[in-house]
Amino acid sequence: MKLEILTDIAMLLFPRCCTVCGRKLLKGEELICTPCQRQLPKTTFSPTALNPMLQRFIGSPAVRHATSYIYYERQNAYSRLITEAKYGDRPDIIRRLARMAADELLPSGFFNAIDVILPVPLSARRKRHRGYNQSEWIARGISNVTGLPVDVGCLIRRKDNKTQTTMNRDERWQNVQGIFALRHPESLAGKTILLVDDVTTTGATLMSCIDTLSHAVPDIQISLFTLACTRKE
Ligand SMILES: [Zn+2]
Repeated sequence: MKLEILTDIAMLLFPRCCTVCGRKLLKGEELICTPCQRQLPKTTFSPTALNPMLQRFIGSPAVRHATSYIYYERQNAYSRLITEAKYGDRPDIIRRLARMAADELLPSGFFNAIDVILPVPLSARRKRHRGYNQSEWIARGISNVTGLPVDVGCLIRRKDNKTQTTMNRDERWQNVQGIFALRHPESLAGKTILLVDDVTTTGATLMSCIDTLSHAVPDIQISLFTLACTRKE
């Protein structure tokens, strides 16, 4: 009871706001207010079928399944969930979204054959600068729900690529060539991994990871999950 009163006082003194619309959150609401939560722009992709996310990677035989939780549109207020999480020092947003997504994906069997989750790595320099890797927080959110282990040491980013936000499709593909490498690739032999990232646009970054993984570990199987994806390439 005492704790509840303290929580109420804290809420009065430091009101928390909805990340999407900015409205003050009510008791029991976390991160997003109830109306915004209801209108979350979910992709509703069938996670184990040939959906628009999997279609981006159809040329890669190692890829089994792929899905994405919400649509990302730069002008849409919901994109704040991703940008705040990535650049606003709010990794808690991303972990919570990942938990919500994992809860909804669980009954589909999407996670059934997965052995380990691999987040798309940041370079050591960029991770130091930002203080965290948002993909790691997505992986941890999924792990909280599924109990699957997370490996952050195997897949590494050898060099920084330039930020891709203003690049066209061809420039993005060139920008990510050969930037990833594997430590102890034998530890992944015969495994099914879940590769996770925050946003898919062209799929160039994930494709570069997939190339690195499937060259070094020929019998690897890969599923893909991103919190958000754009509607088209
Ligand atoms: Zn709201």
